[in-house]
Amino acid sequence: MHRFFTEAQTALRETTRRFAEREILPRAAKIDRDDVFDRDLYRGMADLGLFGVALEEDAGGAGMGAIGACIAMEELARCSGAVANAFAIPVEAALFLNQHGNERQKASIPGILAGEIIPATAVTEPDHGSDVAGLRTVAKRDEDGWLINGTKAWVTLGGVADALMIFARTSDAGGHKAISCLLLDGKAPGITRGKNEELLGMHGLEDCQITLADVRAPLDAVIGTENGAFKMAMENFNFSRLMMSAMALGMAQAAFEDAVAYAKTRKQFGGPIMNLQAVQFMIADMSTDIAAARMMIHHAARLYDGGFSIAKEAAQAKLFTTDMAMKHVSNALQIHGGNGYSKEYRIERLFRDVRLAQIYEGTNQIQRLIIARQVEKEMA
Ligand SMILES: Cc1cc2nc3c(=O)[nH]c(=O)nc-3n(C[C@H](O)[C@H](O)[C@H](O)COP(=O)(O)OP(=O)(O)OC[C@H]3O[C@@H](n4cnc5c(N)ncnc54)[C@H](O)[C@@H]3O)c2cc1C
Repeated sequence: MHRFFTEAQTALRETTRRFAEREILPRAAKIDRDDVFDRDLYRGMADLGLFGVALEEDAGGAGMGAIGACIAMEELARCSGAVANAFAIPVEAALFLNQHGNERQKASIPGILAGEIIPATAVTEPDHGSDVAGLRTVAKRDEDGWLINGTKAWVTLGGVADALMIFARTSDAGGHKAISCLLLDGKAPGITRGKNEELLGMHGLEDCQITLADVRAPLDAVIGTENGAFKMAMENFNFSRLMMSAMALGMAQAAFEDAVAYAKTRKQFGGPIMNLQAVQFMIADMSTDIAAARMMIHHAARLYDGGFSIAKEAAQAKLFTTDMAMKHVSNALQIHGGNGYSKEYRIERLFRDVRLAQIYEGTNQIQRLIIARQVEKEMA
């Protein structure tokens, strides 16, 4: 048994690792090259029960909490950052709907867990990213329900999503107290999906803009409190930031393993480059920072599962892990020399994929703002 995991957590880690190595790893390069969503792998993760890993047992999940989600996430990301990214979406959607949804909305949870209903979350807009409270999509109430107009940007799985969680302005009041989240059928008339974005990395996630032109939704399409979605989203971010941290951690772990394997076999000046102190120091720093990040993530996840507020800890884990992952994936590429710059080696893909983690789920500049604000509160 793993020193810090329960038996169930150890089993989850081993099962996920086996699936990731057997099913994901052999397909990861092709997904990157073709930039097409792999439905079979998505279904494979669902069949393994992974989408319900953090969901309470009485809601149909495995009840393994944020710590379980982070353990699974690291293993998936160790074999493909993009597939791991796809895993995060249904996990978070099921939790969000279970926590805030009405009975009709909760009825879609089994379909999400089974991989039959692909969800997507659309907060960001072309002109409103970090400034979530400024978003402009409008849902107007009339006698027939809601009438929604606006444009959403960068929607992960947007091209294949069956259910959309759309953040829109539902009151004339300005700022963050006028935003609701509406659950829409992806096939609703008036919804148009743009072409898939051509991205540096994280290919195969059907990331696109979504335009809503006079889209109709019933009054009970609002998830949770009307005009209360900003607060709900911010709370949800605490969980999703841990997921993104574990995703970056998995990619850093993969880069580390590749760097060590390469350094042990690549010979220069009559011996393996692993014998060179410059290389050893890079490996030693990688190993240390990866261990530190894992502890930060698991500590924050355990706090979250214990019901504690983790706004600071989640932001710290996200900031530290994604910055360290970028730095060390780059160092691992350096250890590969010229080969690191070639598509022949997966470190090239890891280098492109991991970059995103510093940008989304709140940029790392925004994480610093959150940390500073929490520190100020604590020290008041
Ligand atoms: C591949 C990909 C997938 C995504 N998936 C989704 C998704 O599924 N759903 C969704 O809703 N969104 C998604 N996003 C959007 C993502 O969350 C935003 O890109 C991110 O929040 C940053 O917003 P922005 O791109 O508008 O940058 P901006 O907010 O315009 O920021 C630009 C720069 O200014 C800095 N900045 C902005 N405000 C401040 C401030 N107050 N203090 C200091 N610095 C600041 C930022 O840190 C950044 O460096 C995705 C993005 C990408 C690239």
